[in-house]
Amino acid sequence: MSALHGFPQPAEWKGKALPRIISRLFDVPNGHTLAVAKQHGAYDWFGSTLFDKSQFELIQTVIDSGLRGRGGAGFPTGMKWSFVPRNSGKPVYLVINADEGEPGTFKDRLCMARDPHLLIEGCIIAGWALGVRTCYIYVRGEMLPQIQSLNHAIKEAYDAGYLGRNLGGTGYSLDIFVHRGAGAYICGEETALINSLEGFKGQPRLKPPFPAVSGAFAAPTVVNNVETIMAVPYILKHGPKGYRAWGSDKSPGSKLFSVSGDVHKQGVYEVPLGMSFMDFFELAGGLKGSLLGCIPGGSSSPVLTAEETATATMDYESLASLKSMLGSGAVTPFNTDRDPVLMLQSIARFYAHESCGQCTPCREGTGYVDRVLDAVVDGHGRTGDSDLLHALASQYEPMTTICAFGPGAAWPVQSFVTKFKPYFDAYIAKNPNAAVPRQLTATAPGAFM
Ligand code: SF4
Repeated sequence: MSALHGFPQPAEWKGKALPRIISRLFDVPNGHTLAVAKQHGAYDWFGSTLFDKSQFELIQTVIDSGLRGRGGAGFPTGMKWSFVPRNSGKPVYLVINADEGEPGTFKDRLCMARDPHLLIEGCIIAGWALGVRTCYIYVRGEMLPQIQSLNHAIKEAYDAGYLGRNLGGTGYSLDIFVHRGAGAYICGEETALINSLEGFKGQPRLKPPFPAVSGAFAAPTVVNNVETIMAVPYILKHGPKGYRAWGSDKSPGSKLFSVSGDVHKQGVYEVPLGMSFMDFFELAGGLKGSLLGCIPGGSSSPVLTAEETATATMDYESLASLKSMLGSGAVTPFNTDRDPVLMLQSIARFYAHESCGQCTPCREGTGYVDRVLDAVVDGHGRTGDSDLLHALASQYEPMTTICAFGPGAAWPVQSFVTKFKPYFDAYIAKNPNAAVPRQLTATAPGAFM
């Protein structure tokens, strides 16, 4: 990627203010240090603003704010917190999902590098709300600068009395540990992440039980994404109404979007939910060339055509109405110079490689799709391959699998071959033997020729 843009971003865009809920310190020199963060209001709620509130009040505040998970699933955060059983006799764990592996997504790494204290603040508030004594931040292993930044900030927070024993004289104690993952996409799935955290192979677990009831070390566990938790201090300070001043009624608040692809200023931007995609592209320096389509929420989100993109807004409802999703907020517009077949080939290769292999439809299906796409690209496409790809993906799309990886791997296949079918047909037409039926029964070399 070229130089990262986004910050400093303008205070307003087209006459409307842009939020700085998460990104307040992203462009402040040394904003990752406690001294500078405190100058900008970090931890100013530490004391009666937090500790006078009951767990019930705090959870209700987050429910009322309408905050939804920013990692991909978009599940209401306060509701997730409310599922944690009280008085189970077991500890409650908070696990921060900082694995950020969805292709096109690069916002959480910016959060951890530029403002680690905001993440720690969120952990303390969530910790108090949930009765957590131990919090783990599970970070993708190769994010070394982020791990360094977090560890430094955590040490500062311990030294300043924001972490450790008897916080604020309340008797409440909280420890935070940074745990390095080994860089597997599937460890972004919360139960695979928990397995990995416990030292097991990073493979998803069957649900139920859900982590809120039986997660890390068989105890109640809340898994939240980095950006999600970083919104919590703002909600505590400004209340649900203050948070809802941003965004739309059903999708309140702001969101960090990582934009790559055919815009002039690729980077991370914080915008209110509900902004139109076309306005957003202008904010990101404008489109390069003529728009052909857009991946709106990370590689697993169903692709949009140019016409759909022109009408879409960046919120959960608009994208759901187009049978796509906001996902992790990784936006990839592409122009008419791009080849959707090659794009899908690259995406399908990724999912075939990253399948954890537990479920037959996912393990075998993603591999089949990968091989058929390779054949199409290599000039060995057969009449009906678009339908075949769709049918293969449909074997692992309708939750015939343990986790949501299956559907997430199927959606790009189904949407690309449906919306950009002429591009696939053009490849297939190059094969003089296109009419010979494809045999899918063998996996021997040449079976897909
Ligand atoms: Fe593993 Fe795929 Fe099954 Fe998820 S759906 S558990 S990634 S094989």
